[in-house]
Amino acid sequence: MKKFQRFKAFIILKQLSTSFASLIFSFLFFSSLFLVLLSLSLTSCLHKETHAKENLPSESPISFEENGNEYYADRILIGYSDEEKINSILNLLNGKLVVHIPEIKVISVKVENVDKTLQLLGNELIRGKYGIRYAEYVYVRKLVPFEINTRPDNYETKKLVATLSEYTNYSGESLDLYLWGLRAIKIKDTWSDGHRGEGVIVAVLDTGVDGTHPDLQGQVVEGYRPSTDEVLAEGTDSSFGGSHGTHVAGTIVAKSDGKGIVGVAPGAKVMPVVLFDNGGWYVGDDYAAKGIIWAVNHGAKILNNSWGGAGYSQTIKDAFDYALERGVVVVAAAGNSKAIQSYQYPANYPGVIQVGAVEFNGGDYTVADFSSGSPMISVCAPGVSIISTMPQEGSRGYDRRSFALAENNGYYGYMTGTSMATPHVSGLVALLLQKYPNAKPWQIRKILEESAVDIGEKGYDEKAGYGLVNASAVNQNLPVDGGLDYRLTVTDAYGKWNVPSVSVSLVGVASNGRNIRYFAKTNAEGIAKFISIDAGDYDVIVSGPDSKENSEGLMRIAHRKAEERTLTFHQTLNESKSDIVRFSSQASLEIDIPEVGVNPQIVFLDVTKLPTETGYEITKDLTSNTVDFSELSGRYLIKLRLSQKAYESISVSGTLTINGTHIPIGGKILEDATETYIYDSNGPYAWWTLFGKSD
Ligand code: CA
Repeated sequence: MKKFQRFKAFIILKQLSTSFASLIFSFLFFSSLFLVLLSLSLTSCLHKETHAKENLPSESPISFEENGNEYYADRILIGYSDEEKINSILNLLNGKLVVHIPEIKVISVKVENVDKTLQLLGNELIRGKYGIRYAEYVYVRKLVPFEINTRPDNYETKKLVATLSEYTNYSGESLDLYLWGLRAIKIKDTWSDGHRGEGVIVAVLDTGVDGTHPDLQGQVVEGYRPSTDEVLAEGTDSSFGGSHGTHVAGTIVAKSDGKGIVGVAPGAKVMPVVLFDNGGWYVGDDYAAKGIIWAVNHGAKILNNSWGGAGYSQTIKDAFDYALERGVVVVAAAGNSKAIQSYQYPANYPGVIQVGAVEFNGGDYTVADFSSGSPMISVCAPGVSIISTMPQEGSRGYDRRSFALAENNGYYGYMTGTSMATPHVSGLVALLLQKYPNAKPWQIRKILEESAVDIGEKGYDEKAGYGLVNASAVNQNLPVDGGLDYRLTVTDAYGKWNVPSVSVSLVGVASNGRNIRYFAKTNAEGIAKFISIDAGDYDVIVSGPDSKENSEGLMRIAHRKAEERTLTFHQTLNESKSDIVRFSSQASLEIDIPEVGVNPQIVFLDVTKLPTETGYEITKDLTSNTVDFSELSGRYLIKLRLSQKAYESISVSGTLTINGTHIPIGGKILEDATETYIYDSNGPYAWWTLFGKSD
């Protein structure tokens, strides 16, 4: 026992961040985001462009995550904290700047090997030094080919024509008989009141739009092609990615000129933003986010998103939050997977108007079988056998499954999907924004929901939402309550470390009686944003930081399930509000101190706080074999240290108890060494995440 007493060591708890004052470090969660364009009419590579330009997404090498998600192997997204450090970051990574989005403080960088870059950035000290808030892959999204009808004489269309014949000349357009969607939402009632979307710009985030189409001439304003940073002149052909975007655009703004078709909002304008480029390749999250923000900055009041997919991306969410916080209405397709889901994005981000598809069976309207459902679905709209504009012959996106109309030589075609339902809603929103130009996104959404015609299950349901949208929405008054912004900051016990990667769910009953569930994660600043959501009584369930985050090293805040914290509280939300919740934790280390061996005199005490360039460290005197360090907050490596070299190696073992979970640990001070990190199954350098002691 004498020997035991002479063995003393330190537990060194070394905080990983640069300084306590700048503890808002952030991490991007390798959300397994992969977005796919829904029901896109893949053009079978017809007229596929071959661009000489470097770096077009389709020419980037692709790698795969274990879960199958694809990402571009030569690009990485990096959230920065200081714009002046961008050049240093580029030098560090030996990379080239690809995209810079100052509005959400993110860059993408072309690097030789993204995984090696991620390994480098897994080093907390480096991230701190360069002010890197987070880093993540640039994911690849895919096109989903689907069938479109080539001619208006197919069975389905014939059936529609027969049924619609009693409504001849509803719209005054020559293809009037096939425009069942306009009848379904009773749009004409609204036009006759002078609401046609005048003065409203709808960004179509899609494959680009053929603005030379005779039914779109004058309807397409300046747009943006993020992959080449080109501003697209108004009225030009930008259908780089195929026919899908032109079809969507026609449903929104095709001209009322007696020829062809007419859109829901012929008085509005469409702004093409090319997110699916070069024959249909998804440009990547970096360019996509840039495109979203470009649209907001250039006057778009509505973002039409006829695309989506599984996975949660903070970068994409930041971009849409940027829109919602500026009063821009975000409309998104629910998807065509048929399933009830809550993981399709952007449709399931809070504040987004999620749209399902309706079909017409010659008498009643029903939700289309393929239409995905969600607890977050808002409304549904016509989405089966929708006729609309298609790129002209000779255009970039020409699709041979379209047909030419003799009277205006315009090309038209039919498409089916929630992709087609979404622009019906965007068009209706344009009418609403003509009338209420300063409406908040939640006010617009509530008007649509309150005026929707219930279909399917009685009352709100997860397939039809509140039902089929109806143009009577325009006659409704703007609601004065029932919607709000909610921002929840998750911080440590002392309010000094705002914690990213925490899941926040609002589960409860909205003020109109509907069961509801919103989901968001805390961003790089530790804030979970719920912009333009419904008022209601909610349980706020806060859980994380997620120890299962996919990202090797980079976005991971916690390594162990035991480090995650969960708390639930009740919140009645009637008006916009910001909340703060504090995590706390408990941690203690028990060391089984060994017999020291032949030369116990090598060990003596030298209690110092070790200064390093990374700042904060704590040294504890191991005066007993148990040390409690629950008061610490942050991420720590834990080290045992002697004050003098060991004559022979010393093995230590013990238990680290964190939040009630006992975790076996070990360590070995080698001969001639003075210290060892303690390790568990995550290895010796996996930090321990703590949130401090609550009062
Ligand atoms: Ca027309």
